[in-house]
Amino acid sequence: MSAFAPFRRIAIIGFGLIGSSVARSCRKLGLAQELVCIDRDPAVRARVAELGLCDSIFSDAAKGVAGCDQVILCVPVMANAALAATIGPHLEPGTIVSDVGSVKGCVVRDVGPHLPPGVAFVPAHPVAGTEHSGPDAGFAELFQNRWCILTPPTETDPTAIQRIRAFWEAMGANVEVMTPDHHDRVLAITSHLPHLIAYNIVGTADDMEKVTQSEVIKFSAGGFRDFTRIAASDPTMWRDVFLTNKDAVLEMLGRFSEDLLALQRMIRWGDRDGLHALFTRARTIRRGIIAQGQESPAPDFGRTNAPTPPAKATDAQ
Ligand code: NAP
Repeated sequence: MSAFAPFRRIAIIGFGLIGSSVARSCRKLGLAQELVCIDRDPAVRARVAELGLCDSIFSDAAKGVAGCDQVILCVPVMANAALAATIGPHLEPGTIVSDVGSVKGCVVRDVGPHLPPGVAFVPAHPVAGTEHSGPDAGFAELFQNRWCILTPPTETDPTAIQRIRAFWEAMGANVEVMTPDHHDRVLAITSHLPHLIAYNIVGTADDMEKVTQSEVIKFSAGGFRDFTRIAASDPTMWRDVFLTNKDAVLEMLGRFSEDLLALQRMIRWGDRDGLHALFTRARTIRRGIIAQGQESPAPDFGRTNAPTPPAKATDAQ
């Protein structure tokens, strides 16, 4: 872990799940001397004030970023370009701009050109989240033992990269640096495709005529409910992910469709060995994820239906 020197003034733009989790974590760990909230929604600003998450609150991003040494964009990825254009002229030399977006190629393309000389850009993606949104959904421990991927453009000042690495490590994350393209291909298979499959299967079940809605819900513990959790994620965020990571998602979807056809054939021709081999391979991957501390080994197939607070990070987003 790198040594961490607190930032003087951090502005967080967009106080949803991720923005408010970063704010809570900064508060709890003393990562900034001053925290600034910027959000376009008056109800969100009022709630942030009530929760005491920040020292000052702005609706106008241009005013809020003044005097900051870090600005973090925590909005859906397609909102970044307009925000960067708004704040660009008001950023002071020495400021580091970062983000938390789930797609990186488009962020580098959309934000970079709006930043003035002397302002460093270190895009970040904390691979942690829940299916909940808004300022009440966040919690300080969200990033603990989760990965945070940095995708700095090649010309980025190494000191700025080091500061953002130390910032995420201070919040408990494990940090890795990669190119935006590589990030987008990796996340296409580990996060974006699983979400697409979840949205599709929930849609298919909803359209079924022979299985009633009530049966879908009643027998959901058979596997369906795990897809519904993933498919309950924020629609705006996920619309933006698929539109901005189109090429990588379509490539992974093509491979997935081919493999699905092979599976279909195995079932049709009663290929016992083929099915068993594939399912055994899948089980090994699950065990590897547990061994690396990215999931709990506790069985949850028969978990209770009691509502639980959003107190633990779930799958990668
Ligand atoms: P969220 O809870 O829905 O919060 C999004 C915030 O962005 C809200 O404050 C929203 O304000 C604001 N916003 C939306 N559109 C905007 C616009 N055009 N201009 C200005 N502000 C706007 O979402 P989130 O889960 O925190 O996601 C934020 C970012 O984190 C996304 O880029 C996402 O890809 C990334 N991310 C999410 C997860 C996850 O699991 N959720 C994990 C890792 C990274 P309004 O309420 O007014 O719409």
